[in-house]
Amino acid sequence: MKTVDLRSDTVTLPTEEMLEAMSGAPLGDDVFGEDPTINELQHIAAKLTGKDAALLVSSGTMGNLVCVLTHCRRGEEVVLGDKSHMFLNECGSMSSVGGVHPHTVFNQPDGTISLGDIEGAIRGVNDHWPRTRLVCLENTHNRCYGAPLTPEYMASVKDLAGQRSLKVHLDGARIFNAVVALDVDMKDLTKHVDSLSFCLSKGLSAPVGSVVCGSHEFIAEARRNRKLLGGGMRQAGIIAAPGIVALGRMVDRIADDHKNARRLAKGIAQIPGLSIDLSTVYTNIVYFDVDIKRITTDALKAMLDRKGIRALPTGPTRFRMVTHYGITEEDIDLTISVLNDVMKGVG
Ligand SMILES: *Cc1c(COP(=O)(O)O)cnc(C)c1O
Repeated sequence: MKTVDLRSDTVTLPTEEMLEAMSGAPLGDDVFGEDPTINELQHIAAKLTGKDAALLVSSGTMGNLVCVLTHCRRGEEVVLGDKSHMFLNECGSMSSVGGVHPHTVFNQPDGTISLGDIEGAIRGVNDHWPRTRLVCLENTHNRCYGAPLTPEYMASVKDLAGQRSLKVHLDGARIFNAVVALDVDMKDLTKHVDSLSFCLSKGLSAPVGSVVCGSHEFIAEARRNRKLLGGGMRQAGIIAAPGIVALGRMVDRIADDHKNARRLAKGIAQIPGLSIDLSTVYTNIVYFDVDIKRITTDALKAMLDRKGIRALPTGPTRFRMVTHYGITEEDIDLTISVLNDVMKGVG
């Protein structure tokens, strides 16, 4: 039976070209800075994002933590969205590892945080208060329907942060989805942040890795913090090689994922017992709700699993489906037809 795995864009497998690149990559010890393949990937990433330098890390979670540790000292505070991945899904690492205090503010449904809310969260000078050091944004926003943040919005946050002497970090795990959806140059987004991390292993389909980008000074310190976390890798050019292929070959095709997500959403909108707001389908992430008077989320998940369709329950009534490399239009049509059959059966 065919499986259509829509739980996440992290389930993608490396392409043939990536596997070949891995086996042929020139390698060296990266803790000495001597892996030519890693150095090439970092050079490409820095150029692409318009930053001085870049650093390969093992995951998006490590990338974000390395950046927080580099911007903030213990007892300092980060302003970030209450639905952000960094707050919800990274083990509270900024506080547990860094001693850094997260100050959450409301994420609007489109992934933005109102400037008023950011401003209201920035601390003044008072012996009782932590010192605010950093504002974090997420683009595209995972929990907020994969919504892309526009260059204009990012510029407005950067302006506000600058006036209050704060730095801005971007969790750009899916920044390429934003670039494709908004049809902008990467630098139009990245020029408004001091640091960012992006994932090679999501929509770009590489097997492992994320990249942190920033100034020369920032990356030098980030390298230290990566080492502190046990992330100093040796011949990790075997990870960087498919990352280079990902950046060169896998960006433009993301448009197909966005098309498939819309196709899927439109199909779901026609199915009695399922509900979706089509205006929330921005990129490759589709959230929909099930009428749990007809079928529970657990039961729906089990029935889909049995038919080879994999979706991720993310709330009492909610499912997430994510399109990615390897998912075709036919897979989408099969998914819609299975959902239709299942819901008819319980109607
Ligand atoms: C996936 C993800 C990350 C980190 O991912 P890892 O699984 O640690 O590589 C960070 N931020 C967002 C928004 C993500 O979706």
